[in-house]
Amino acid sequence: MESQLVRAAEILESASSVALACHTSPDGDALGTMLGLHHILTSRGISAVSGFPSPLEVPPHYAFLPGAESLTAQPAYPAAPEVMVTVDCGSIDRLDDLRPSAEAARTLVVIDHHGSNTNYGHVNVIDPSAAASALIVFRMARERGWEINSDAAMCLYTGIATDTGRFQFDNTTPEVFRAVADLAEIGVPIAPVSRTLFEEHRLAFMKFLGRVLSRCELDAERQMVISWYDQADLEYFGVTMPETESVIDFIRQAKEAEVALLVKESAPGEIKVSLRSLGGIDVASICVERGGGGHRMAAGYTSRMGIHETIAELKMAVGAAMSERGPTA
Ligand code: AMP
Ligand code: MN
Ligand code: MN
Repeated sequence: MESQLVRAAEILESASSVALACHTSPDGDALGTMLGLHHILTSRGISAVSGFPSPLEVPPHYAFLPGAESLTAQPAYPAAPEVMVTVDCGSIDRLDDLRPSAEAARTLVVIDHHGSNTNYGHVNVIDPSAAASALIVFRMARERGWEINSDAAMCLYTGIATDTGRFQFDNTTPEVFRAVADLAEIGVPIAPVSRTLFEEHRLAFMKFLGRVLSRCELDAERQMVISWYDQADLEYFGVTMPETESVIDFIRQAKEAEVALLVKESAPGEIKVSLRSLGGIDVASICVERGGGGHRMAAGYTSRMGIHETIAELKMAVGAAMSERGPTA
């Protein structure tokens, strides 16, 4: 890992321009890491283009990130970049319509913290023990003496704050707090950023959330809390998919449950799954088996079945994982 980090840093230091990308439907770590690195590079005089797979819709709570207003999507994204960096993206298929650019890049650098990463780059800086991809970029900057300006700090902070669940998940190590102390010192306005990231929702979203929460069902035998929404729910409340990223974070709070499942019709006929676990069940392996990925406690995939078939199938899968594990103390 260490030598890969140094190789990646050297490639970036000698590049004149870099194309940056993150995974489809980006979260705070994907966007924060990409834009954080973007600002670090441009402040060093390296030109950078950042983007993610179409549709280029930035979730409203990340729209404040410096650079989020000037992202590049297909067909404008460089077709064969000299150097391309993907961040927070565990496999090449999560690049969707940017995949051809990654395949054509002369040098592809992958910076990620998913244990399920497939090492699809020429240089792969993968550390599953890092709380966020943003933390790997922070380490790289510190190790190479790269300046982190206030725009970069805001972006890297967002990656770390979101992927640690506001410093609550078990990936919240002392290193996280040290990094965040440095970023706060550079000038991240913690209170307004926190409100924008986590505590600011349109009333329409809150009413939509009410429907999805009231739909929650508890499978007591498998200690699973389950809910779903479809296109009709989104339309009824006038809510967009990017606005709904945090819904799973409310559902997973059910005390009775060890595993939380949310099944979403994200576009007509497209079914996405979010799974969360308290740690006893490895939801990443359940999702990897179904063509997705993630972390032990947070993972997802795109289902080929309908909403209710997906729920039924996952009840069996979680049940099987629980009986494999055996009774807990
Ligand atoms: P989500 O439930 O969408 O918030 O995603 C939880 C975790 O699973 C994140 O680390 C995602 O990067 C990962 N993940 C979600 N969907 C997929 C997918 N289709 N393929 C690979 N990883 C995914
Ligand atoms: Mn992510
Ligand atoms: Mn991440």
